[in-house]
Amino acid sequence: PYPPSPTFQPVLERIATEIGQTPGRGRPADYIPALAACDPRRFGMAVAEIDGTVYGVGDWRQPFSTQSITKVFTLALDLAREGDELWEHVGREPSGNPFNSLVQLEYENGIPRNPFINAGALVVTDRLQTRTGDAAGTLLAFLRAESGNAELTFDKEVAASEATHGDRNAALAHFMASYGNIDNPVPVLLEQYFRQCSIEASCADLALATSFLARHGLRADGSRLLTQSQAKQVNAVMLTCGTYDAAGDFAYRVGLPGKSGVGGGIIAVVPGRCTLCVWSPGLDERGNSVAGVAALDRFTTLTGVSVF
Ligand code: GLU
Repeated sequence: PYPPSPTFQPVLERIATEIGQTPGRGRPADYIPALAACDPRRFGMAVAEIDGTVYGVGDWRQPFSTQSITKVFTLALDLAREGDELWEHVGREPSGNPFNSLVQLEYENGIPRNPFINAGALVVTDRLQTRTGDAAGTLLAFLRAESGNAELTFDKEVAASEATHGDRNAALAHFMASYGNIDNPVPVLLEQYFRQCSIEASCADLALATSFLARHGLRADGSRLLTQSQAKQVNAVMLTCGTYDAAGDFAYRVGLPGKSGVGGGIIAVVPGRCTLCVWSPGLDERGNSVAGVAALDRFTTLTGVSVF
């Protein structure tokens, strides 16, 4: 549907210049020391075309903590294996509550509202663990294959830090287990989930790894991970639930399916065309990268490229 464009590189450079001149970058996540130490002035942005061409600006090759961005990939990997049965265990409605909220779970019988709040992501990782015996390892292998970067790995310090500060996630997992919605022993699940969140990758790696969603379910090697319909479903859940309780504002400003993480990264998809990843560690009060959202907002405004 879009006219061919040789490259978005000039747009990225313009955005990087604008962002560099904008004061007020938010604050890095401070719930674990490894994230609190990040410099909020760092900024990188990458675009991956669906043919695998990737380019970017700023710190686009600098690895950062992927955190909740990984929830997109575990969702896709589990959906590919079990199909619609997953939706009996996790919903697909925006929550309007913070990512680590417990409140809705009791009203909804231990079924989390969507796969991108922590409760929902724990359910997805639990189900992927049951199907693969190694959810985090399956995720890492997928990210390495799609990005072409065999060096991607877990950050052991971040994973250990998540575990030390993991009372809230443990509470969520135990609470859902009391409703029978968790299959594995909670300590096994938490270890998998914390390793998942600790994976380090760059904007270039993540833009490439997200490309299967722009290719309607096709992986980098041409094999199919998701049906066209499932790829649409994942993109739709990203659009409505991917940016914590600011998904409405993100859809309004950016107009693309996106998923953010508290490491300051955001991935976004232009179905049929390309994927984007932006990183800047300063977050707003809802947990989204301030410069990241601003950059994606400028990208869709300057290019006219969005799902609308
Ligand atoms: N490891 C974080 C947690 O589960 C992920 C938070 C996020 O990126 O939203 O608390």
